Amino acid sequence: MNRPENAPRNTEVVIIGGGIVGASAALFLRRRGVDVTLLDMGACGAKASGVNYGGVRRQGRPLSQMPLTARAHELWQQLPALIGTDGEYVRSGHLKLARTEADLHALEQYRDATRGYRMNLQLIGTNELRRRFGWLSADLAGASLCPDDGHANPRLVSPAFAQAAAAAGACILENTRVTRATHDGQRFEVETEQGPRIRARYLLNCAGAWAGDIAAGFGEPVPEDVIHPLMMVTEPLPQFMAVSLGMQGGGIYARQVDRGNCVIGGGRGVMQPDGYARPARSALPALLARAAELLPPLRGAHVIRFWTGVEGSMPDHNPVLGPSRRVPGLIHAFGLSGAGFQVGPAIGEILSELVVDGTSTIPIDAFGVERYAVPAHEAAHRSELSREQSLEST
Ligand SMILES: Cc1cc2nc3c(=O)[nH]c(=O)nc-3n(C[C@H](O)[C@H](O)[C@H](O)COP(=O)(O)OP(=O)(O)OC[C@H]3O[C@@H](n4cnc5c(N)ncnc54)[C@H](O)[C@@H]3O)c2cc1C
Repeated sequence: MNRPENAPRNTEVVIIGGGIVGASAALFLRRRGVDVTLLDMGACGAKASGVNYGGVRRQGRPLSQMPLTARAHELWQQLPALIGTDGEYVRSGHLKLARTEADLHALEQYRDATRGYRMNLQLIGTNELRRRFGWLSADLAGASLCPDDGHANPRLVSPAFAQAAAAAGACILENTRVTRATHDGQRFEVETEQGPRIRARYLLNCAGAWAGDIAAGFGEPVPEDVIHPLMMVTEPLPQFMAVSLGMQGGGIYARQVDRGNCVIGGGRGVMQPDGYARPARSALPALLARAAELLPPLRGAHVIRFWTGVEGSMPDHNPVLGPSRRVPGLIHAFGLSGAGFQVGPAIGEILSELVVDGTSTIPIDAFGVERYAVPAHEAAHRSELSREQSLEST
């Protein structure tokens, strides 16, 4: 997919980041005929978008994200037409478990609050849970089932968005790290470590866990935190778990793929100097113990791989999504806080609408970068600094 070049390339839209967000934006922009160049410092879909748990669920998303997650739900159904593969996407159902009566009450309140959003949440009491899902540990208070939520294979889905964008005419430059991005009042100039320089009218900041640095470079600092959810997968086991599992209050989630392997998440990893993250040693036995306690069929099973990833997270668990308040043509889309695989395609579509139509059909007011605004004089000072600042140091 690489097309190295030395002269500045003029394009309408430059996208930093080829995860599911940036790649789907490139695809939707090409579908509307927009000239687009996407840069990724590694391979497209190799960071959070390619290593996540694969949960494609609406259940549990905050109310502010309901229209966004509902649109994503529609797009997931169209995956083969969009990217040429179903990415092993299945609407298996998502079962959110309650450990206590208080948890069950919280699930009930959530069901009532989200009734208008067609999730058809079904509250299940402890006896029915035992009858229908006998492979679960017996000490649960109940659960909430979202029958149409499901899961998919991130290793197939996320790179396929970039491949589909390239096939639709996007210029995709992998292994091309942006080191500096500036705006001269009219156009952006983007410089890269590997040489290519891009000039563009719009810049989409889709750099995932690194996007906060880019926002800060344009005088819009945000409190983006970096998290590393811990994952593991077992050897293939006889099929027992048809739904994707979550837990009210968090702690553990699990699904079983067609081949029989169980993918399990919970706990955290640690960041490495190379920009990738590794599982924290102390977290591994804890996750194993929790999994075997919740899912008795896992007892004695071999784990064949542990891994983690690098994900941006905002304090209010909502993304930063929408135009910059300082730089015309700069649009942010990051800080997905563990939800970006499911909502990523809808965010890509929204980004294309913001570029082409100047507005989004899905309400995104709750996600504006201005909620983290610093006082005007401080922002102006940071912007001055950013003209000289290289992203290399971040
Ligand atoms: C282990 C794990 C489990 C998760 N589980 C789920 C789940 O079950 N369901 C769900 O919906 N979400 C889940 N998530 C969250 C989801 O994966 C992310 O929200 C989503 O992938 C973010 O997509 P993105 O495109 O914004 O970021 P990324 O996929 O991280 O892509 C950002 C890209 O920007 C590139 N980049 C950064 N800086 C530069 C630069 N200077 N120059 C060039 N390129 C640059 C990076 O190389 C990267 O490829 C999980 C995340 C992790 C890590």
